[in-house]
Formats: sequence, structure tokens, C-alpha cells
Amino acid sequence: MELIVATKNKKKLQEIKIILSGLNLKISSLADCAGKIRIVENGRTFRENAVKKAVKVAAATGKLSLGEDSGLCVDALKGAPGIYSSRFSGRNKSDTQNNIKLLKLLERVPQNKRKAHYVCAVALADKGGLLGVVEGKCFGRIDLVCKGTNGFGYDPLFIIPKHKKTFGQLSERIKHKMSHRYHALKKARKLLEKYIVKQLAS
Ligand code: IMP
Repeated sequence: MELIVATKNKKKLQEIKIILSGLNLKISSLADCAGKIRIVENGRTFRENAVKKAVKVAAATGKLSLGEDSGLCVDALKGAPGIYSSRFSGRNKSDTQNNIKLLKLLERVPQNKRKAHYVCAVALADKGGLLGVVEGKCFGRIDLVCKGTNGFGYDPLFIIPKHKKTFGQLSERIKHKMSHRYHALKKARKLLEKYIVKQLAS
């Protein structure tokens, strides 16, 4: 069975493939789909955006689809950048520019007030419509400077208190066992397992 992940973000796709490995699924992405599927990310929540992506791609391809929407919520910024995480410093800006903007906004915020969390919403849909939507979170703190080159996005700034290191410094193996994406996909995996059994029986 094939699963289309509604993303063009290669790093995200790679993480999703690793976390969902072992399921009897051929995982591909929007980049592998013929023709253009335009998804307008205008939901008010991570969940709404994830559902939109999954349902749109399933309807366009007729295949089992996974929509993922994720981002960083910083307490001192009242939850920003949130659903605007990828375009925090403007459209087509880089992860580095987003990190610079975040550091600038937190310039006067002391270490003990730099709490933040990542959120990941994952929705599954097939040609019949939405199958389910789940969410995962990962709690941490924003560092004073970028550290490490692993991961992507805000990872060089996101400190995991247990390890006293950023996701940028920690190995992929560690990130994939505790990230927001891991927690959401662990729940999605259960839905997928049930779906596969049902499809094979029908
Ligand atoms: P989306 O592709 O619209 O869901 O935007 C996700 C954005 O949230 C990314 O471009 C990053 O800025 C941020 N983000 C989400 N997950 C992660 C992560 O695991 N590490 C670092 N940044 C992340």
C-alpha cells in the first residue's frame, strides 16, 4: 500500500519515513506526485492545516495520505511563531533568518523565561475522506545562541532540558525518540496499523 505525505520538505519527510519505518507502506511525498496539487495553508490551528493537507492530497490522488503541520510555540511570545513558524521572518526566508528573528525578539528575556514547545499535528485521509487526526508535543527552552547543525528549522535553538543540549546538537536517534513528530506519529502509526488490517481484510 502507498502512503503519500503531503509535504515538499525533505527533512520532514525523512523524519516521517524513519519514525514510520517497519509498516508495510511505500512512503512517497508530494514531490513524487505527477501534476501540481495546490494546498492553501490558511487554517487557524496546526490540526486544521494538517487535515486540509491530508484531505486535499487524498482527494487529488485517490491514495492514502498523511498531512503534517508543525511549529514552535514560545511562551514569552504568547505562542508565536506557532502556525507561522516556517514563514516567521517572511515568505521564502531561511531557517537561519527565522532563528535570527527569534533571538532578536527574545534578546531581553532571561534564561528561566524562555520556555517553548514544538507541536505536530498529523492527519490521515483516503479517498473516502478524513480517517483521523492526532497531535504530539515536545517541551524545551530557547537557547541564547544557535548550537549544532543536526535537524532543521529551530533545532539549533531548542534546548532539551533533560540533555542540556539543543536538538541541533543531539543525534537524530535521540530526536526521533522524543520529538513532537515522534509523539504524533506514534499515535498515527496505531491508526495506520488498523487501517492496513481493515484494507487487507476487505
Ligand atoms: P510547515 O511545513 O508549514 O508545517 O512548517 C513547519 C515549520 O515549523 C518548519 O519550517 C520549522 O520552522 C518549524 N518546525 C517544525 N518542526 C520542526 C522540527 O522538528 N525542528 C525544527 N523546526 C521545526
